[in-house]
Amino acid sequence: MSRKTELAPKAGNKFIRVKCPSCSNEQTIYSLASTPIKCIVCNHELAETGAGKIRLRIKPARLFE
Ligand SMILES: [Zn+2]
Repeated sequence: MSRKTELAPKAGNKFIRVKCPSCSNEQTIYSLASTPIKCIVCNHELAETGAGKIRLRIKPARLFE
C-alpha cells in the first residue's frame, strides 16, 4: 500500500533510480540523456541512447516522474 503523489516535477523530466547488476551501486540517471550511461563505480553500461530517450539495459529500482 503505497501512495505515489509526493512530488510533481515538470513533465518530461524523468529520473530513474537504478542499481548496477555488477557492483550493486545505486545511482540516479536521467531518462532523456543523450549519451549512454555507465555505472560510476565499475563502468558497467546501464543504459543506451534511443530515439530521444535512453533505453535501460537493466531493471530500474525506482522511477521518478
Ligand atoms: Zn557497477
